[in-house]
Amino acid sequence: MAEKNLPLGREALEKLTETYPTPFHLYDEQAIRENARRFYKVFDWIDGFRNHFAVKACPNPAILSILREEGMGVDCSSLSELILAERTGFKGEEIVFTSNDTPPDEFREAARLGAVINLDDISHIGELERAAGLPELISFRYNPGKARSGNVLIGEPHEAKYGLTGEQVLEAYRITKEKGVKRFGLHTMVASNELDSAYFVETARMLFELAVRIKDGSGAEIELINMGGGIGIPYRPDDQAVDLGYISEEMQKLYRQIIVPAGLDPLKVVFECGRLVTGPYGFLVSRVLHVSRKYKDYVGLDSCMANLMRPGLYGAYHHITVPGKEGQSFDHFYDVTGSLCENSDKFAIDRQLPKIEKGDLVVIHDTGAHGYSMGFNYNGKLRSAELLLKEDGSVELIRRAETIDDYFSTMRFPEAPA
Ligand SMILES: *Cc1c(COP(=O)(O)O)cnc(C)c1O
Repeated sequence: MAEKNLPLGREALEKLTETYPTPFHLYDEQAIRENARRFYKVFDWIDGFRNHFAVKACPNPAILSILREEGMGVDCSSLSELILAERTGFKGEEIVFTSNDTPPDEFREAARLGAVINLDDISHIGELERAAGLPELISFRYNPGKARSGNVLIGEPHEAKYGLTGEQVLEAYRITKEKGVKRFGLHTMVASNELDSAYFVETARMLFELAVRIKDGSGAEIELINMGGGIGIPYRPDDQAVDLGYISEEMQKLYRQIIVPAGLDPLKVVFECGRLVTGPYGFLVSRVLHVSRKYKDYVGLDSCMANLMRPGLYGAYHHITVPGKEGQSFDHFYDVTGSLCENSDKFAIDRQLPKIEKGDLVVIHDTGAHGYSMGFNYNGKLRSAELLLKEDGSVELIRRAETIDDYFSTMRFPEAPA
């Protein structure tokens, strides 16, 4: 069971809306820090353990700075994310660059920063060489194809556009070793929002065994294994969180069985988790604009898919609470919607909730990752503010809401006739 609590009650939220009108995303600093510390403690047997937070999950400098203070690195996949990482103080190998379909200027920027460059395709060896020269350390993204199954969010590995095939991967290390690359990493990412702990143990086994095959087949000694992201979170109250302790223990056993005898110890293992790190600690706070009765009952919020796409995009479940009505009976069924002219703009369908009235505050849970960041401007909707509930209980604006001027700032209107 996953508890779905709010860090602020109705009164405090109402008060907050006097300064910051809804909708907004609110992040809980203390919970993010405590969670980061738990994550690191579980894997403390790994020398130099690090999670490279996937910037795309929550690309806000305030959040990234908190995670940097907690010892995390970042995982970037675009020029903007690299610049954001640099401006937030991340340096060198604290930055992993895991991109695909990569333009040359992004390789150049990643190389300039001294990031760990994780190549998605065997042809990118030449691309990187031409763009920036080959660095001392190179990593490759492995796609196991039919050897593993994926899940609904990321698809089946053999259908996925990412990574090198089993045949290409040995060749890639052979080529780069010949070209003088000295240090090697190995990466995979085969699941997204996966809640089965055993899945990650299998991923570790797959990568450890592959590291040995790479050493035997190409002479390249892997010093860095990147398990990717994709650790799920319990979006539903009856979901079971992933058991990191179990994953860590089983990984340690595999490390002793596979890595140590192959002479690959010490080898650094890292993750690229985003969702696990901030997902549960963000909340989208909205106000009810309308309650309407049609063929079904609808609750219309002042937020929309521009603020949170996951339900509309994947049919994903996000828990919804109505602050102040926690004790009431959940005897109503509503579709909770946004205002886009797009019927998929629903945060929930047939959700059992207490009776909702116009003006109520409604909180959508677990928006701390892949929430704000997926936002867009369809229908001319503006992205909301992001707020940080700090450890001392104060609230700081960490990104202002977009304005109408922001929306029009990229447009060019025809000259008015004289
Ligand atoms: C999206 C992504 C991540 C983060 O995924 P989470 O589900 O947030 O953990 C990590 N690595 C890569 C390459 C990704 O594309």
